[in-house]
Amino acid sequence: MSEASYDLVVIGSGPGGYVCAIRAAQLGMKVACVEKRDTLGGTCLNVGCIPSKALLQASEKFEEASHGLAAFGVKTGKVELDLKAMMAHKDKTVKSNVDGVAFLFKKNKIDWIKGAGRIAAAGKVEVALNAGGTQTLAAKAIVIATGSEVVSLPSLPIDEKKIVSSTGALTLAEVPKTMVLVGGGVIGLEMGSVWQRLGAKVTVVEFLDRIMPGMDGEISKSMQRILAKQGMAFKLSTKVTGAKVGAKSVALTVEPAAGGAAETLEADIVLVAVGRRPYTDGLGLKEAGVALDEKGRVAIDAHFQTNVPGIYAIGDAIAGPMLAHKAEDEGMAVAEILAGQHGHVNYDAIPSVVYTWPEVASVGKTEEQLKAEGVAIRIGKFPFTANGRARAQNNTDGFVKILADAATDRVLGVHMIGPSVGELVGEMALAIEFGASSEDIARTCHAHPTLTEAVREAALAVDGRPIHM
Ligand code: FAD
Ligand code: NAD
Repeated sequence: MSEASYDLVVIGSGPGGYVCAIRAAQLGMKVACVEKRDTLGGTCLNVGCIPSKALLQASEKFEEASHGLAAFGVKTGKVELDLKAMMAHKDKTVKSNVDGVAFLFKKNKIDWIKGAGRIAAAGKVEVALNAGGTQTLAAKAIVIATGSEVVSLPSLPIDEKKIVSSTGALTLAEVPKTMVLVGGGVIGLEMGSVWQRLGAKVTVVEFLDRIMPGMDGEISKSMQRILAKQGMAFKLSTKVTGAKVGAKSVALTVEPAAGGAAETLEADIVLVAVGRRPYTDGLGLKEAGVALDEKGRVAIDAHFQTNVPGIYAIGDAIAGPMLAHKAEDEGMAVAEILAGQHGHVNYDAIPSVVYTWPEVASVGKTEEQLKAEGVAIRIGKFPFTANGRARAQNNTDGFVKILADAATDRVLGVHMIGPSVGELVGEMALAIEFGASSEDIARTCHAHPTLTEAVREAALAVDGRPIHM
């Protein structure tokens, strides 16, 4: 058994862990990152954000080539799907990203210890090496960045063949004729969009009375209408009570969430996407005395430190939205705190994007949250039907909605559906970060003709003076 000594040992190399390791190395620390997967990058790069976006992008192109180009005067003839090539595009995208992290580790002289890490005590991580044997690492600080895992339902055991998680849904060998999504959240709608564009008939079974429950209510209602127009079927306020896996398909028994008559839905593929939970298996947290909160997340203080001095946690393993960029920001913040700086994350300015078409993007508080808090607001809205660039693109579904404090005009929330709103939300995150007023956005010159003009018009609409509406 060998022992090596580090300023920082990070367990997990997802966007939280690898960014933390790089930032700490930049600040002069000697860093090791323990990762048991064969490649770096965690859920996000291997089986999450990156492969799902590669398939969303590719399936969007297929959809556009099949149905969207004739209106632009582009004749294509019969469009055919080459699913193997599409999957190869996804695999190549993943590979270049995970290889990129390996390159950055080398560049920053970070040691990747390949194996499963366990916290033996504060200052000591034991690694069961993938190659066999054990290695003990001495560490001045330990960061838990072990991420999350899929939540499964007892009535729907995931076999990754017919009943799949997001991981199985990223590697289907053929396009299912029918697909049921259990859970109308982000994963369900993104992966459902991929397979629907490629030809599947998709039905969403959602326990609550709305899709995307955390989003602004008006956005979630409008998005359901848009997806329904695209052919997606919705069974809201519905629960799955059982599943029978047959030779060709799965028979799902569903019934109203409040109780009532059951019905059966047949599907070639069932995607279970009812959320994710922190993953801390085998980490030795109990033995090390690290406390969890009431939801099984690693409990931390305002500086990401657990109740055990020298042990920190970030990303999906702790509270907050399970988003890659939130994990990255926490990774940077904790590295800076360890270096004696003032690392900090502004949780009021974390954007969130659903990469459907049109996209959904938001930052800050929802109308419902602000009303519940008793904050008086003014609302400005602007539809993409009135935006010149959106018309030129034939992408006029959706709108921008800005919520500003009625007394101070400070922007408190921005919620959008529309073309590329995942890019537009960056400007809105900056506005919230800088404490901008809607007047600040309204007085900022936005290039013409761009989609960003819809944001400016929504800001003008807060004060009742949009120009193009
Ligand atoms: P993870 O990325 O989960 O990484 C944790 C790593 O730790 C894993 O590689 C794991 O192998 C390793 N590990 C765990 N325990 C140990 C141990 N004991 N020893 C060694 N290694 C260990 N978020 C977005 O912001 N945008 C998106 O578009 C997006 N799309 C997604 C699509 C899908 C299908 C999924 C599933 C998720 C998506 N997410 C997205 C969420 C995003 O992937 C997570 O929020 C993010 O990966 C969390 O980062 P993390 O560093 O906390 O953990
Ligand atoms: P989610 O929380 O977004 O959605 C889960 C949905 O399942 C909710 O609508 C919930 O009401 C519903 N649900 C729960 N139990 C159910 C049941 N028994 N029957 C039917 N419906 C049920 O979770 P997800 O879609 O699994 O995604 C997991 C995490 O991954 C999310 O927190 C998200 O932040 C992250 N993610 C982000 C992106 C992105 O940023 N674009 C993409 C994919 C995943």
